[in-house]
Amino acid sequence: MNAQLKAPTTEQDIKNIVDNQRQYFRTKSTLPVSFRLEQLKKLAALIKHHEDDLYEAIDKDFGKSKHHTQMTEILPLYHELREAIKHLEKWIKPRKVATNLLNQPGRSFIVPEPLGVTLVIGAWNFPYNLSLIPVVGSMMAGNTTILKPSELPIETSKIMAKLINENFDPRYLRVVEGAIPETTALLNQRYDKIFFTGSPQVGRIVNEAAAPHLTNVTLELGGKNPAIFTQDASLDVGVKRLIWSKFVNSGQLCLAPDYVLVHKSIKQKVLDKMVHEIKKHNYSVENKNFVRIIDKRNFDRVAALIDPSKVFYGGGTDREERVIQPTILHNVTLDDAVMQDEIFGPIIAVLEYDTLDEAFDIVQQQEKPLAAYLFSNDREIKNRFLSEIPFGSGAINDAVMQTSNSNLPFGGVGNSGMGSYHGKYSFECFSHFKSILEKSTFIESNLKYYGHSDKQIKWIRALG
Ligand code: NAD
Repeated sequence: MNAQLKAPTTEQDIKNIVDNQRQYFRTKSTLPVSFRLEQLKKLAALIKHHEDDLYEAIDKDFGKSKHHTQMTEILPLYHELREAIKHLEKWIKPRKVATNLLNQPGRSFIVPEPLGVTLVIGAWNFPYNLSLIPVVGSMMAGNTTILKPSELPIETSKIMAKLINENFDPRYLRVVEGAIPETTALLNQRYDKIFFTGSPQVGRIVNEAAAPHLTNVTLELGGKNPAIFTQDASLDVGVKRLIWSKFVNSGQLCLAPDYVLVHKSIKQKVLDKMVHEIKKHNYSVENKNFVRIIDKRNFDRVAALIDPSKVFYGGGTDREERVIQPTILHNVTLDDAVMQDEIFGPIIAVLEYDTLDEAFDIVQQQEKPLAAYLFSNDREIKNRFLSEIPFGSGAINDAVMQTSNSNLPFGGVGNSGMGSYHGKYSFECFSHFKSILEKSTFIESNLKYYGHSDKQIKWIRALG
């Protein structure tokens, strides 16, 4: 127990935390699988024991209901912990691979090893999920970890700091709370891995801080995620899934569809069905099925994207309560404010297209998105979508749900990020894979020695 742990206040305090973790890592205490499992089980038990405190904290920050938090944060976290505890002994084993003839007699294998001291920086929109799931990855890979949760949901940051700092050895796992000054001080230190979730703008700052030490970096960023509806799409189920995935967490979700490209022949039908679905949900903060915008700065940013002349549905805002009604903008063009940056709020922009080429072209004019969604039943269009459009992850005839399958790596590409995690991919994300060739000393050919004749090269090529 470290109940008296003092919050770091100076650059030197932060340096001490990192130095202590490095020394501890060198003791090799984090290496045995028994240690890793024990720590993962301890984290799972701690969360279980304090689940109600976690619900209370997030409700204070966002007005987020228990069910909403269970579905989007706590259950995915338990799932990751269960997978880690169940499979770690298998994942940690050296992986055998074939050995080419040139290296016979011998055997080849890949040994996973921890990277060392890691820094995990979380985002605010799913504070438990986006902070603790990477931490599980770091723990199972055998690293020590410093977690810096987002400072915006202050109650969730406080509860994570309290639970972890009172129950774990700070040389192994430590939460450092704070905003830009504290994150900057953390980034001034040297790590073996930085895992960052947040905006592409801050992702660049993180990457620059990592560069002098060539620190391994994973960046989980955002972008403008398209959803394309083709003429033959199953509209009832498609729009139902689209609306849920757009307005869950009030659109404050990195994977949420940002804009919808609809074939002009079905545009009116899609718009009408969208309104129907929104009304069916009866979204409201009082019903606890619609969360507040995290702060006034984000409220102002999102509200400014609503062009009254383009509102098809919604558009209402309440700054005091930090609530923006679910809003559909139509007749949107690429020049509109709503198409300049990621929306990250409860607005959906609808653009129409005539030909599929035109729709694909619009997507490719933007940076590579974190996710893309296609609503279609046409095999050829599905194949084109998969082969022609680059994006981090996606779904066909659904949205967002790809993240709930931990067999699928979760991550972006280009401006939406680098690297991926979840399940086994989290273990890989926080590990290095050492490639080993072990040779027998029994025999040795002279092929590579003493000059290179045409005959030797011919043999080397043949045995490749
Ligand atoms: P953000 O980039 O503002 O903040 C993320 C973290 O960086 C926070 O912990 C914050 O304290 C820190 N930070 C902020 N400014 C900093 C600076 N100047 N120097 C150093 N550290 C700084 O992002 P956000 O507002 O928390 O989240 C919104 C963005 O995150 C969106 O772009 C969204 O798409 C993206 N996101 C991505 C994922 C994903 O998994 N790919 C998940 C959630 C959010």
